[in-house]
Amino acid sequence: MIEKIVLATRNKGKVKEFADLLEGVIDNVISLEDLKSPPEVIEDGETFTENALKKARTIAEYSGKPALADDSGLAVEALGGRPGVYSARFAGEDANDKKNIEKLLSELGEETNRRAKFVCVLALVFPDGEEIIAKGDCPGVILNEPRGEGGFGYDPVFYLPDRAKTMAEVAPEIKNSISHRAHAVMSLKEILSSQKG
Ligand code: IMP
Repeated sequence: MIEKIVLATRNKGKVKEFADLLEGVIDNVISLEDLKSPPEVIEDGETFTENALKKARTIAEYSGKPALADDSGLAVEALGGRPGVYSARFAGEDANDKKNIEKLLSELGEETNRRAKFVCVLALVFPDGEEIIAKGDCPGVILNEPRGEGGFGYDPVFYLPDRAKTMAEVAPEIKNSISHRAHAVMSLKEILSSQKG
């Protein structure tokens, strides 16, 4: 059991979600909110892994404790994997969820290959330099128009064929059990428990 990790985020929702998902493997999750003036990390990597590693390395070095960071986004097949690491700012400097979705639908136009996946990469970095990377994804299809009020980001246009619903239409508990983040945490737990044994 790892006694304490620092989660490299200020987002309270993410802290709660990760603390719940990691229960039994890591029993004390703190966040940047609990550190005194932690360094800002610029997410300028070209891959999710680079960004997650950069955040986790910086915070592990600063805090002297194991640090866990995530980076995630949407990869659309017909767009060669874009928006990828640019998911949050796809529509530019003043991007928001609505503008990002509009930009995505206009880039896809009449394209018939609507396959896409949400991707999450987790980096767990220890003060002694050990690094663990865990990945998760969640496949789906991009609709022609938004449906549903739940979730955030691209959820209203991300359709789950098996459930015949968009990610914005499924219950939060369902999203949290099938999402790219959930799959990445499951993979991290497997890696950590195999190391213990
Ligand atoms: P972050 O790495 O969690 O900050 O996510 C980066 C961006 O990817 C977000 O701003 C969203 O645009 C997109 N994204 C990540 N996860 C999700 C999700 O679960 N649903 C919808 N969009 C997501």
